[in-house]
Amino acid sequence: MQPDRAVSFLLAAFITGVVSAATPTDVTDTQREQTLKERISAANIGSYIESMTAHPTFPGAPFARTVAQMTLAKFKAWGWDAKIETFTIPFPRPTERAVELLTPQKFVAKLHEPAVPGDPYSEQQSEHLEPFFIYGPDGDVTAPALYVNFGLRDDYEQLASLGQSVKGKIVIVRAGGMWRGGKVQLAAEHGALAMLIYSDPKEDGYYRGPAYPEGGWRTPDGVQRGSILYGKFPGDPLTPFVAADAKAKRLAINSPENTVARIPALPLSFADAQPILESMQGGVAPESWRGALPITYRVGASSAAVHLKIKYQWKNIEIRDVVARLAGTTFGKEEVVRGNHRDGWVFGAQDPHSGHSAMLEEARVLGELYKGGWRPKRTIVYCSWEAEEQGVIGSTEWVEAHLAELQKNAVAYLNTDVTGPGSLRPTGSSSYTAFVTELAASITDPNSNVSVLKRAQLKAEADIYPRPGSTAMGMSLGAATLDALKNLIHLDPPGYGSDHHAFVSHAGVATVNLAFGDDLNMGSYHTAYDDYAWYERFGDPQFKYGRVTAQINAVAVLRLADADMLPMEFTATARSTDDEVTHLKNLYASVKSATDRSNRAVELGAYQVLTDPTQPRVAPPLKTVPPLDFSALDQATVAIKSAADRFEAAKAAAASAHLTDAQIANVNSALMNVERSYLRKGGLPERPHYRNELFSPGRLWDTVPVPAIGDAILDEQWAVAQAQIPLAAQTLEHIAAAIDTSTAELKKAAGERRR
Ligand SMILES: [Zn+2]
Repeated sequence: MQPDRAVSFLLAAFITGVVSAATPTDVTDTQREQTLKERISAANIGSYIESMTAHPTFPGAPFARTVAQMTLAKFKAWGWDAKIETFTIPFPRPTERAVELLTPQKFVAKLHEPAVPGDPYSEQQSEHLEPFFIYGPDGDVTAPALYVNFGLRDDYEQLASLGQSVKGKIVIVRAGGMWRGGKVQLAAEHGALAMLIYSDPKEDGYYRGPAYPEGGWRTPDGVQRGSILYGKFPGDPLTPFVAADAKAKRLAINSPENTVARIPALPLSFADAQPILESMQGGVAPESWRGALPITYRVGASSAAVHLKIKYQWKNIEIRDVVARLAGTTFGKEEVVRGNHRDGWVFGAQDPHSGHSAMLEEARVLGELYKGGWRPKRTIVYCSWEAEEQGVIGSTEWVEAHLAELQKNAVAYLNTDVTGPGSLRPTGSSSYTAFVTELAASITDPNSNVSVLKRAQLKAEADIYPRPGSTAMGMSLGAATLDALKNLIHLDPPGYGSDHHAFVSHAGVATVNLAFGDDLNMGSYHTAYDDYAWYERFGDPQFKYGRVTAQINAVAVLRLADADMLPMEFTATARSTDDEVTHLKNLYASVKSATDRSNRAVELGAYQVLTDPTQPRVAPPLKTVPPLDFSALDQATVAIKSAADRFEAAKAAAASAHLTDAQIANVNSALMNVERSYLRKGGLPERPHYRNELFSPGRLWDTVPVPAIGDAILDEQWAVAQAQIPLAAQTLEHIAAAIDTSTAELKKAAGERRR
């Protein structure tokens, strides 16, 4: 899981007047939901986590195979038709790792997470996967180090104005703010030789709360492992577009076409980073660059050379996706897909077993209903993925293997990944906004006993625990959107940090991510301390939020599987499209105003007059930002809004018509195609695997509005930005047309019935 995805709630209030086809229509449906919710057991969830994280679960670990078999056996025992699908992927593991400061005093980084008193798992040292970044090149570099804050685009601009460059240096940055592979890519583009990423206590250490084992926050030795793939495509770095099976053609490890990082990199604990940061010279870092270590953060190369060495041994390993089905009846070809990954960086009690255990408990109770005679109208597919942490590999390879079938039949993909204490933080496809709102109204928050919808609404409207760094809600959304959201929960765009990634960006399958946890403690994130001993104290004590996660997802699956007409609506789609276009315009406006400000400072001679001679500032070059014409996007947005209104009118008119199953299936097929129509034919420029016009990541796996245009704006490629506007607008027109096709199908069916 990537922790950096935007998590925000907008005004959400108890919904009135939104009735979808998925609402329980008779006593039996309501009773079935009630039974489902009651039977979900917190104790079971705890026992799955304990048994499945007894040893490390990373791909290739001996216990990972055992856990795959345990998962398969459970599904089978619970009445599911289950099997394992395997893929073969490269798994480079380091044989040599070194980070040292050569002078003035020699310091050798530990690169190791020692045992912690009271945590027996932390003593299973020989089984742990050592701290490293996967999918980078070997390297042996000796150079001065330079601190660049989080290592984001703006940080490099600020660095240049401070008269510094990373060319020929080892860059050291804090973790957070963006996908770490994007950071490595940016450092390489700026001429750095290598990169170190450390966890500053400000983000997840003692600044946030007491360190483990006293509290749950990161210890001085905790290291955030991770993948550093460059985000040109997700999944196995060597097999874009095709499943990594025996017959797949593989790119070479040194091919420029793959997604392996271009410069070597290693992660550090803050205990290991501090001596390196202390060796920096030069001016004091800007306020926003300072972390929480007891040192002066500086922006100037280290006096001493830093030596970084990493050598990998590349091996192919097998990964195992466990895929289980309950066959549907009336609409049996259509599929509701639910998944969660099973692999951790080491034990992975929180990431991913907080979500994986909830998914298993859902499967157990759904299996009980099935054994009791219930048959879902749609086929339900449960997927336990492997190798998510390395780059959403197990899920991406599976999507590539089953692409045609998914595009024809998948009505939605539901994902969780990490879940825990706090409010519901739903993300996903806006066409399911009303569906999720109703769902949230029917689930009870275990701590407060109000509905999880009510809790989410209070969180948005009257937060008494604002989090450091959280942004004010809804700042960039228009008044009409904010008004509409008073009655609805807001689904943030799905983001890219977990297994829904390929479903959304490549296959155009609607996604719904129902996890909890704005009060999550992420202090063990990607460390060896994310184990059962940590989890039962600090992750989700008594597994209460595991239980509510299983409840909301099980009811979501039940409703999606048994609905006649799919519970989709498109007024939220129109709003979310409008939001994306607004975000894009805001992005352009912010780049333009920053450039105007900078140009003016240069023209007025501010850099000569105001410079502190001890900390000289360098005038940036004058730049021009040409006007961009967004009108094609505006027109397309209006077209989606009108199409959504026509669909709502047709739905209201058809409300009393009793459609045949065949007619409903036709309408559903048109509805599914609305999500597919987000895909641009041929994919995004230079990244053809990414096809979703609005919900693909930026080129650095960051969140960028309308990425084909947004990336060009961020990279100041103005001609590209202008050329992409009509192309993106064309995709939006396709969305409007697909909604109109659904309307036509619905009218046709209702008309036929009336005759
Ligand atoms: Zn995860």
